[in-house]
Amino acid sequence: MKLTDITLITPYLSLDPIFYHEVTPTPLKHPRLVSFNPSGALLLGLDPLHIDTSEIEGLLNGTLLLRGSRPYAMCYAGHQFGYYVPRLGDGRAINLGATKGWNLQLKGSGQTRYSRQGDGRAVLRSSIREYLLSEAMHALGIPTSRSLALITSDEKVAREQWEHGAVVLRLSPSWIRFGTFEYFFHSNRYDKLENLADFLLQESFPELVGVENSYLKMFGEIVKRTAHLIAHWQSVGFNHGVMNTDNMSAIGLTIDYGPFAFLDTFESGYICNHTDTQGRYSYDNQPRIGYWNLERLAHALSPLINEEKLKNELDHYGEYFTEHLMELLRAKLGLESAHENDSELLRSLFSVMENGRIDMTPFFRTLSRYDGNKEALCALTLAPSQLNEWLERYDERLLRNSSSTDARHAKMLRTNPNYVLKNYILQEAIDAAEKNDFSLVNDLLTLAQSPYDEHPAFERYAGSTPNQYKNLKLSCSS
Ligand code: AMP
Ligand code: MG
Repeated sequence: MKLTDITLITPYLSLDPIFYHEVTPTPLKHPRLVSFNPSGALLLGLDPLHIDTSEIEGLLNGTLLLRGSRPYAMCYAGHQFGYYVPRLGDGRAINLGATKGWNLQLKGSGQTRYSRQGDGRAVLRSSIREYLLSEAMHALGIPTSRSLALITSDEKVAREQWEHGAVVLRLSPSWIRFGTFEYFFHSNRYDKLENLADFLLQESFPELVGVENSYLKMFGEIVKRTAHLIAHWQSVGFNHGVMNTDNMSAIGLTIDYGPFAFLDTFESGYICNHTDTQGRYSYDNQPRIGYWNLERLAHALSPLINEEKLKNELDHYGEYFTEHLMELLRAKLGLESAHENDSELLRSLFSVMENGRIDMTPFFRTLSRYDGNKEALCALTLAPSQLNEWLERYDERLLRNSSSTDARHAKMLRTNPNYVLKNYILQEAIDAAEKNDFSLVNDLLTLAQSPYDEHPAFERYAGSTPNQYKNLKLSCSS
């Protein structure tokens, strides 16, 4: 299918106009395609081999409107850094409509009713990060919004300095956030709150439509998905950076990529966002914040669902989180079944990693080839004797496995990525793109989409982060 054969639908517009603002994108001058993602095209039923670049540029720049498209921005609120902000909304995102269960959304396409002081734009730097990370997370098996393409422009946008404006076309089965519910709850529009819950059921939980206690069951599912999502982040060392409730997807996806980071040297209290001076959104706070955010959602749903019952669902969060994290971490260690001492074994591994300033991605990758020879692993730590001791416990634990070492290696090599897109790697692609060389963005898309493979030309990105690039802090500005 060609792009222009698509017909979009806009079910969100059947809701009351208080939910959205119908607004058309404001095109950027001289748009240029930076990257196009064939996997995103396949999601929409497009033939990636027959993509017309100028049509894609037109779609992202808002000059090519697909059949059925009625662009709109969504209204929401949210708790930002713990404080309630009564109206946020898509200040720079514009929805085009949906096809095949994917809502197409432009980010950086101009002002809307919800822009407040903002210019409605996004810069190339942050757009490259979002474009690549959503594909990288997907390939790691982590629920996320996806991306179709990225354009930039000569048009400059004012941030700390002037930067190139850009637009990402991102895809999600739903763009409803915890903050969308909060908006209607805190403005006492309980009728609209109910409309929103019904809409989300239809859109994303159709199996619960017409079922008894469907709102409660939907909330239970959101609790589970959120717990699983954050367990997954923890297992790969991902720090989201801005877990405000407006950035929490109601269907448990990673959305709104900002100053995120994959940890370099393992540091449990790592804070990727340098404006987060209190460390509210540090790596090790993420599980607690997930719970706190779900409490805000539960509160917003309280006019629709018995509070005691909401609380009962929330109470499962800890067990959902821990069980999933343990499952993911056991797989990272190549352990075939559970044992009561596993959580202690894992806790001590994380403390060995922290004390030895170990970079977790190359560590787990090297562990995926571990055959009893400790040399390669000990080369990754500043505290080899601690690691040695831990490995002796690991040796013993491996005796409980029944399959062969080779089988364990093969499985672990499909579990522990060779590549994660650390900030310094993304920065190299951004620096080149600022000089009109988009080749590294496209190479990183390939790495992002095949993180378990060996890519000899990019071996340098597989090792520990070079010292001078470790644990960069990023600003929220984007
Ligand atoms: P974020 O921190 O990117 O999740 O954004 C928080 C809120 O600010 C959302 O409502 C965004 O739509 C809005 N926002 C962020 N940047 C801009 C911008 N440049 N122009 C308009 N609104 C923005
Ligand atoms: Mg946001």
